Amino acid sequence: MQTTSLPTGINLKIDKACRKFIWSGNSDQQRMSMVSWDTLCKPKAYGGLGLKDLNVMNQALLMKLSWGVISAKDSLWVRVLCTKYGVNNSKPPLSLPTRYGSHMWKAIGKIWLDTMFSVCWSVGDANGQWNWALFDHFLPHTAIMKIASIHPPSDLLGPDQFYWSHSNKGNFSVFSAYYAISPPDNLLHDSSWKMAWKWQGPQGVKVFIWLALHGRLKTKAEIARRHMLINTECDRCGALIEDILHVLRDCMVTKGFWSQVIPVVMRQRFFKAPFKEWMMNNLQNAWPIYGVRNWVCFFGIAIWRLWFWRNQFWVNGLAMDSLSMVNDVKARTEELNSDGACKATGVAAAGGLIRDHNGHWVAGFGMNLGTCSVTMAELWGLYQGLILAWNKGIRWLCVEVDSRCVTQLVKNNMVNSNEFSTLIRVIQELIRRN
Ligand SMILES: [Zn+2]
Repeated sequence: MQTTSLPTGINLKIDKACRKFIWSGNSDQQRMSMVSWDTLCKPKAYGGLGLKDLNVMNQALLMKLSWGVISAKDSLWVRVLCTKYGVNNSKPPLSLPTRYGSHMWKAIGKIWLDTMFSVCWSVGDANGQWNWALFDHFLPHTAIMKIASIHPPSDLLGPDQFYWSHSNKGNFSVFSAYYAISPPDNLLHDSSWKMAWKWQGPQGVKVFIWLALHGRLKTKAEIARRHMLINTECDRCGALIEDILHVLRDCMVTKGFWSQVIPVVMRQRFFKAPFKEWMMNNLQNAWPIYGVRNWVCFFGIAIWRLWFWRNQFWVNGLAMDSLSMVNDVKARTEELNSDGACKATGVAAAGGLIRDHNGHWVAGFGMNLGTCSVTMAELWGLYQGLILAWNKGIRWLCVEVDSRCVTQLVKNNMVNSNEFSTLIRVIQELIRRN
């Protein structure tokens, strides 16, 4: 793919298998696509998943090769190609002789013109000013304005130099080439996407929030919008249209849940806000909900569980009362804070505490560790906190550790053994436990 232009049909087939896998978990099984492929291929900050369209990616990778022919003149592979096909890359031509040649050379030739249009020259040594009278009547106003912003040639500047026009630093990158070939349309920067991916919790819940922000949960209204024959009434309360806001906030059952958590003074604003504003305000904690310590975390888990219970009712007919729902969410939002420290002598200790959603004490621990590093002490604190939570029957836990090094060590799959590896393995085993 990096050296050959793949047939469009093959790229489309691979993209299709990816789409099936994303929505069904299997490349052979077709399920309803909730978000379009074009949107999935947008960057995460713009509402997509940052996936790459293979056809465009193939061209961007080939552009890297053609950029290499222009910029890496002294490389052996460039010298071989240019000598073999008789190309003077000091003065790159607008097209390459590709009638005869290898697959790679033909692939470079295919993308060559696009690459040339992406190359800009910065004016170097010569002396003088722009002689506008000689050319300003030949050029459009936009070109004149562009030239006016360029510094006239000067002996101080050295020879003319070329640069890649699609990045601020002038360096080539496959990323910039990709978005130069396929500039995403209607890219409006919306901070709500960032909020979804920065939400602190399990990846599955983040994806759920992302889908909800797109308004693409498989509600009855959404299924009807896709021209499938379905009764759009809510099965639980009989409301005429079961849309996303109804399931997550306005259904009689859901309202019962929120009413137990939202203070009376906040209810007017909470229940009246339009969907996007409602999601945004809750995800950025703009409405302080007194009584819940980490509202952003609580809200994310709550809407995810509300959707789960709605599906349980629809598929299995299982109903749950609002008090049990609240207890279920509370049990999933307990927090562990752990810490470790050591003195100048190297003597270390660790401690931590578990709090419920209100911030009330559930359990705590403290321990002496002998002599070790701060990182080791932090890891011991985390390990002991997880053991304590497990023994207390807590199966869902938000963990706060004040060491970036520890979170990276635990999140990454280590290849090499080191002094922390045993502790990290037992911590990872505890996190995976159900
Ligand atoms: Zn309802």
